[in-house]
Amino acid sequence: MTTSTDDNCLFCQIVAGDIPSTTLYSDDAVVAFRDVAPVAPTHIVIVPRLHIVDAAAVESEHGPLLVAMVLTAQRLAVSEGIDQSGYRLVFNIGDDAGNSVPHLHLHLIGGREMAWPPG
Ligand code: AMP
Repeated sequence: MTTSTDDNCLFCQIVAGDIPSTTLYSDDAVVAFRDVAPVAPTHIVIVPRLHIVDAAAVESEHGPLLVAMVLTAQRLAVSEGIDQSGYRLVFNIGDDAGNSVPHLHLHLIGGREMAWPPG
């Protein structure tokens, strides 16, 4: 389901500034902040302001928003100094992926070597 915001959603509350975060980037489409439980030296969460539950709920009209999220990830990779060493962009969907926050978010993870496939 897609609504503009959800008052009960953790990431909507971070986007609104009601819950503090270490925000690295913000514009009218997306907000990027450091993950509170980083799994690597760089671990940033990039979220749309629009409340979209997850990547399985993305529709074609969200195309520009997804591009904005990826462009934000590219720029942050540069500012974090991991654009040359490499990084991982991850959307988790559902329980088996460990998805814990039902608001679309792109993980930007880097700064260390990572195994593939992930364990
Ligand atoms: P996922 O498991 O894909 O749903 O990712 C949710 C991510 O949000 C996890 O990596 C959490 O560590 C992170 N997270 C949860 N609460 C916060 C918070 N208040 N500030 C920043 N990151 C958070």
